[in-house]
Amino acid sequence: MKVTNLAEDTEDFTGNIWLMENGEKVLIDTGTGDSWKNIRELKKVDKVILTHSHYDHIDNLPKVEDGYSPKIYAFQPENLPVGAEKLEEGDKIDLCGSKFKIFHSPGHKDDSICLYSGEEKILFTGDLIFPDGGFGRTDLEEGDREKLIESIKKLIGLEVEEMYCGHEEAAKEDVEKQIRRSLEEAKKRESKY
Ligand SMILES: [Zn+2]
Repeated sequence: MKVTNLAEDTEDFTGNIWLMENGEKVLIDTGTGDSWKNIRELKKVDKVILTHSHYDHIDNLPKVEDGYSPKIYAFQPENLPVGAEKLEEGDKIDLCGSKFKIFHSPGHKDDSICLYSGEEKILFTGDLIFPDGGFGRTDLEEGDREKLIESIKKLIGLEVEEMYCGHEEAAKEDVEKQIRRSLEEAKKRESKY
């Protein structure tokens, strides 16, 4: 399984666009602004999963739909500008040949989800948490620190070797420790994303 960030070299402020490849090409979020140029280079996109419906994560979605007609999945499809299939807490979805479990993870935004593969030990967190004890801001509409804390608790105990968040770089060292730190920090301070 190969995971790369199509938003890595973009100048505009955008959420990450994680491209997962293993025969199938899957995007986790679609970003905004000049990150589109990297999506445009792809030969195909089979599936798109949206971690939540904030602008910096879904703005390129109509262009992706136009260009590739992928299957699109989200927790609250009604929040998107294009049609999508609904995901529920506990659903298992096949991505690139591996099963990913869906965790509903409100606190930053009500329609937030995390995706986890026990086979691959990979976790996508959206804006729930970030590396090194970071976590999503809760001062926006639908933000709720208590819900955020409860959502992070769902991730405690998962075996995770690689964590891909909605902002910042991938985390690949002591990831489970980093998740526990996010839980502790979320109880104490404010966040920036
Ligand atoms: Zn967000």
